[in-house]
Amino acid sequence: MHAPSPIKRRPSRQIHVGSVAVGGDAPIAVQSMTNTNTLDVDATVAQIQQLEKAGADIVRVSVPDMDAAESFGKIKLRVDVPLVADIHFDYKIALRVAELGVDCLRINPGNIGREDRVRAVVSAARDHGIPIRIGVNAGSLEKDLQKKYGEPTPAALVESAMRHIDYLDRLDFQEFKVSVKASDVFMAVAAYRDLATRIEQPLHLGITEAGGLRSGTVKSSIGLGMLLMDGIGDTIRVSLAADPVEEIKVGFDMLKSLRLRAKGINFIACPSCSRQNFDVISTMNQLEERLEDVMTPLDVSVIGCVVNGPGEAKETDIGLTGGSPANLVYIDGKPASKLRNDNLVDDLEQLIREKIRQKQQQQDDMIARSV
Ligand code: SF4
Repeated sequence: MHAPSPIKRRPSRQIHVGSVAVGGDAPIAVQSMTNTNTLDVDATVAQIQQLEKAGADIVRVSVPDMDAAESFGKIKLRVDVPLVADIHFDYKIALRVAELGVDCLRINPGNIGREDRVRAVVSAARDHGIPIRIGVNAGSLEKDLQKKYGEPTPAALVESAMRHIDYLDRLDFQEFKVSVKASDVFMAVAAYRDLATRIEQPLHLGITEAGGLRSGTVKSSIGLGMLLMDGIGDTIRVSLAADPVEEIKVGFDMLKSLRLRAKGINFIACPSCSRQNFDVISTMNQLEERLEDVMTPLDVSVIGCVVNGPGEAKETDIGLTGGSPANLVYIDGKPASKLRNDNLVDDLEQLIREKIRQKQQQQDDMIARSV
C-alpha cells in the first residue's frame, strides 16, 4: 500500500547473469556466496537451495582449482539459481567453468597475466554469453597502487577497477559489472560514487568483510543505504560472518526499507511499552518465523495500542491495533474485525495467509486478462 520509492536509479547498461537481468530497469538483484567446500557437492547444493528458498537471485561459488571446477559443473546441474564462479588468477579454471555452464565469471582481467590468456577468457565469455564481474577489493590492491597511494583509498580502488575495465574495453567486451569493495564504509561509498560517474555498466555493491550478523548488518546498511539512496547499485551482496541465508534476508530488508523491492511481508511494529494490550515482541517474532515462506509483497502493522495503531493500520494491507477487551484488525486500512489475545498469533497468521491468497488470485486474474 506504500507509495513507490522516490529513488531515481542511475541509468546503467543491462547485462544478464543466466536468467537474471542486472542493471537497466531490472530489480536490484540480491546475492550471496556459499561458504561450503566446493568439492563437497552435496553440501554446496544444499546451501544453494537454502539460499534460493530465501529468495537469492544469484549465488556465487568459490572455484579455487581445477578439481573445484569439476565439482562446480556437477553443482550447476543440480540447482536452478544462476551461479557466479569466483576465480582468482588461473584463467584455465575460467575456461573450464565456461564449458560447464557458469552464468557469470568473477575474475579480474588484469590478474590473469599474459594478453593471450585474457583474450581466451573473454572469447569464452563471449561465445557462451557469460558476463564478467570485475571485483576490486581494498584488501588485495595491486602492489604498485599500494605503493602509489600508500594505503587503500577510494582513488586507488577506482584506478584499479579502471585498469581491469580497460582490458575488456580493448577487446570490445562490454558485458560486465564492477564492484569496488572496502570494509571501511567511507572508502567504499566514495569509490562507488566516483566509479558510477565513469562507466555505464551495472555496479555490484558490497561492504566487504563487514562483520558479524549485527555489526555487519549495521555497517552494510549504512554503506549500501547511502549508495542505494543515490540511485547507485544494480545488485547487492551483504557480507556477513554468519549463515549466508542471513545475507539474503538482510539484503531484501534493505531494499524493502528503501521501497526498491517488494518481497514477502514488510512488517511495521512498535517497540511496545506498558500501554501494549498484547505482547507485541512475542507476536512479531512468531509471525516473522511462521511467515518466512511468503514471497508475495504485503504490508502488515503490529502495534500495541491506539496511540499509533490506527494511523499505521491505514497505510498497510493488514493492521493490528492493541485494544481492550479485544484488539482491532484493519484490512486495507479499514476496521474489519476484532481479535482476542488467546490465539492471537494463529488468528493473525490465518488472516494474513487469506489476504495473500486473495492478492495472488488478483494477480493471476490480471495475467489471465492480459493474455
Ligand atoms: S504504539 Fe502504544 S504500545 Fe506501542 S510503543 Fe507506542 S504507546 Fe507503546
